[in-house]
Amino acid sequence: DSEKLIKALDILVKKNGYEDEVKIVNTGCFGFCEKGPIIKVHPDNIFYVDVKPSHAKKIFEEHIVKGRKVEELLYEEPNFHQKVEHQRDMSFYKKQHRIALRNCGLIDPENIEEYIALDGYLALGKVLSKMTPMEVIEIVKKSELRGRGGGGFPTGYKWELTYKNNNDVKYIICNADEGDPGAFMDRSILEGDPHSVLEAMSIAGYAIGAQKGFIYIRAEYPLAIHRLNVAINQAREYGLLGSNLFDSNFSFDIELKYGAGAFVCGEETALINSIEGGRGEPNAKPPFPAESGLWNRPTCVNNVETFANIPSIILRGADWFKEVGTEKSKGTKVFALAGKVNNVGLVEVPMGTKLRDIVYEIGGGIKDGHKLKAIQTGGPSGGCIPEFLLDIPIDYDSLTSIGSMMGSGGMIVLDENDCMVNISKFYLEFTEEESCGKCTPCRIGNKRLHEILIKISDGNGTEEDLERLVTLGQMVKENSLCGLGQSSPNPILSTLKYFHDEYVQHVKEKI
Ligand code: SF4
Repeated sequence: DSEKLIKALDILVKKNGYEDEVKIVNTGCFGFCEKGPIIKVHPDNIFYVDVKPSHAKKIFEEHIVKGRKVEELLYEEPNFHQKVEHQRDMSFYKKQHRIALRNCGLIDPENIEEYIALDGYLALGKVLSKMTPMEVIEIVKKSELRGRGGGGFPTGYKWELTYKNNNDVKYIICNADEGDPGAFMDRSILEGDPHSVLEAMSIAGYAIGAQKGFIYIRAEYPLAIHRLNVAINQAREYGLLGSNLFDSNFSFDIELKYGAGAFVCGEETALINSIEGGRGEPNAKPPFPAESGLWNRPTCVNNVETFANIPSIILRGADWFKEVGTEKSKGTKVFALAGKVNNVGLVEVPMGTKLRDIVYEIGGGIKDGHKLKAIQTGGPSGGCIPEFLLDIPIDYDSLTSIGSMMGSGGMIVLDENDCMVNISKFYLEFTEEESCGKCTPCRIGNKRLHEILIKISDGNGTEEDLERLVTLGQMVKENSLCGLGQSSPNPILSTLKYFHDEYVQHVKEKI
């Protein structure tokens, strides 16, 4: 519908001779997926939702020609039944704080000049003209930015480790192998603001001493790939990628590598093996990629959202970044809010925001007036958080302390009709299929866990099966080689902890 809408508006603008007054900009995602397609009319800042191609004529004739708002396309707050005109006044956006998504829905991602007009590539210029590599690393360390791909490792320390490993060839890798079911944070950043990632990779390259970067991206993301290719070519044309950037003696270029959709390739050593043309299987660590990564050279791997934060940190400073967040988790986090919630979409909130605020204020509450049962965070490796824990401020450590994890940002809302045994079964089926099979605890352990879950959900489970799930789950967690196996039992263990009665009911009532 969005493409048809753009075409219809374009025809009207041209037919009526408004080309000099009206510019139609095809942006990336606004985040409010539930209400798309969205049109924002500048400079009035009027935000129209649920726009169909058939609305193009009315928007053009009423708003563009006569300057009158189209009331029927304004957003209505579900809880107050009030029409809202501006994005900033909508409950979906009010509690959001956009750093990584700052340009998404605002600029044309295929036009480098729009990125440059909003201070794009200024951070790279500042770094190359005024800072030493170690000064860049110090700012990132001081900002306390932690990896947004799931692990939460301090980004500045990762850069420093790679910087300190002397080698005449080093690499930067951007991990865009987003694989969690229902997650689309990285895809939206790459589709909406690809230059922010390219600029950050160049900054990281300068900091650690690399001249080459790779973006490892899922081949299932054709629009993100197209926009990255356009952005890379434009950056080369403008002298912002390639040789002697900003007339310095620093050269840096970026190449795309396509992943075939294996979830385990999101693990950095598996990803590196895949780029090298080998099987996408993790390696035992150490050595860490910072010491010996791609083609045995020191390599720094960061994910898309981590990179998207970097230019703002360089330009505005570490203290500015640290003003937002909790004691141990600074800045913001992007979540893909999905499931039984009214406002499905992409949200970026300060670390420390309560889950309750995300679900009820930003998310507009539970669909069809049902009761919330749990929130699943962290993707297939995460856990289910029950309703009574919704007031915990979310950050890396608080989520881990209640048996879940931040992961890359998947957040699925479950209501009273969801069976928690089936939810665990769904995630185990996924991890069993995605296990690379290299180590026994994960390869065999997850298969056995899945079989037990099937037995229970078919009404054939026993009390002993519940005990087996715990002991086997712990064994898989403690003995698997990589993060996939180490976290795959989380959905079972967290639902057994918080929703034990449901398992018992399946066993006792044979349902
Ligand atoms: Fe492969 Fe699973 Fe072992 Fe990771 S934990 S190496 S995915 S078998």
